[in-house]
Amino acid sequence: MTVRTRIAPSPTGDPHVGTAYIALFNLCFARQHGGEFILRIEDTDQVRSTKESEQKIFDSLRWLGMDWDEGPDKGGEFGPYRQSERADIYKKYAQQLINQGDAFYCFATPQELDEMRREQQARGERPNYDGRGLNHSTDEIKRRLAAGDPYVVRMKIPEEGSFTFNDYLRGEVEIPWQQIDMQVLLKQDGLPTYFLANVVDDHLMGITHVFRGEEWLPSAPKLIKLYDYFGWEAPVLGHMPLLRNPDKSKLSKRKNPTSILYYQRMGYLPEAVVNYLGRMGWSMPDGREKFSLQDMIENFDMKRVSLGGPIFDPEKLDWLNGLWIREDLSDEQFLQALRNWAFNDEYVRPLIPLIKGRVERFSQVVPLASFMFSGMPELTEDKVSALRLERDEVRRVLQFVSWQLDDLRQWEKSELFSGLKRLSKAMGIKMGDFMAPLFLAIAGTTSTFSVVDAMQLLGPDLSRARIRAALNLLGGASKKEAKRWEKEYRVLLDELV
Ligand code: GLU
Repeated sequence: MTVRTRIAPSPTGDPHVGTAYIALFNLCFARQHGGEFILRIEDTDQVRSTKESEQKIFDSLRWLGMDWDEGPDKGGEFGPYRQSERADIYKKYAQQLINQGDAFYCFATPQELDEMRREQQARGERPNYDGRGLNHSTDEIKRRLAAGDPYVVRMKIPEEGSFTFNDYLRGEVEIPWQQIDMQVLLKQDGLPTYFLANVVDDHLMGITHVFRGEEWLPSAPKLIKLYDYFGWEAPVLGHMPLLRNPDKSKLSKRKNPTSILYYQRMGYLPEAVVNYLGRMGWSMPDGREKFSLQDMIENFDMKRVSLGGPIFDPEKLDWLNGLWIREDLSDEQFLQALRNWAFNDEYVRPLIPLIKGRVERFSQVVPLASFMFSGMPELTEDKVSALRLERDEVRRVLQFVSWQLDDLRQWEKSELFSGLKRLSKAMGIKMGDFMAPLFLAIAGTTSTFSVVDAMQLLGPDLSRARIRAALNLLGGASKKEAKRWEKEYRVLLDELV
């Protein structure tokens, strides 16, 4: 048997370090067994999935040197590897489950289900799908299908007892069936949910081992039950511990930059990032802290993963990156790496039109554009107090902008500009006064070229991180304040569209 593992990211938003972390362990496991590693794009959520995000997943995993054997961009024997191109396959399997009596049609409208949940809550029960679709008679189903009534397909779930399975990393896990709902498998739009698509694909693609994040553990009963219904052998499942912030909370972009591209833009070496991710819950048998992907593959042992939540701490990553720079780069290689990073035509060329009109000597270029080649700009109290807005208002502006940018799907200059303009108007702040804190956050000064141009070139990851860093430097928002602001922001949102 050839070992086949996969990473199956959903292309919604920025490529997450958590994705790279899970990819790394699946890659090492496959390589160690002389197996194959597959990239599958799980884009059945048509509203949230974007092509840009998919491209960023490719780019960031490639940058890290984690290459896959089969994938949407590479093809392979088991394609297509993008779920949106496999809709007919899932429909066929959903039909099979219905025919076998393991899944059923449900015609309940969303309003009807809301009502059901409200009633359950009023009775003090846990809101749960009550199986009403199981009561449709065959005639009724026929009639409603013929009439074109919208429906979903749900899977049957045992009513009693509990489900046990053997997790590769955790041993025996037991979950009572009562905690599991009759999962929707096929949505009204005819596309599958994660559950159906994931099982069908892992099976058809010959995946033998699935290592994924702990957050998926509660879904294991449904997945394994589906394998059961189909009469297929389930792959070995193992649930990796979640990455955590230094304060032990689940790694979140509010506390730590989570986009892989942020680490690229900040000037980390991909080798160091991979090395750091490899140390999340795992260690080399000889305790060595610095190791390459190849070293990791050669010494890999999945059973050495420890389950206590590993802390993703950028300061430790700095230390490790420094080691890599000092010990592994000759001066010539350092120069080359620097060029690849930002000192190249591709990065510098779009800066020229922004800089040219503002200098009289080349010697002014570096001071003017230094923030385009740095991490977090220096923000001092006197810069903040020189702003026209009060300090509290500055914090509010930065927070609102930060929320707005989190939701921006296309990082494009005109989109950024019109969004900010609408926000300043909605907040009732003059555009100049509104933009000044943004200049400080992004450039560390209010007198430089267009901050929107700068943000476009810096990219979403670094721009967002700078705004968050500035906000934190000013004391962030207290819990109470954040709640109030969120409410205010939601009201403004109506004016923003
Ligand atoms: N699409 C899921 C995700 O985004 C895949 C989970 C799995 O590996 O089964 O994480």
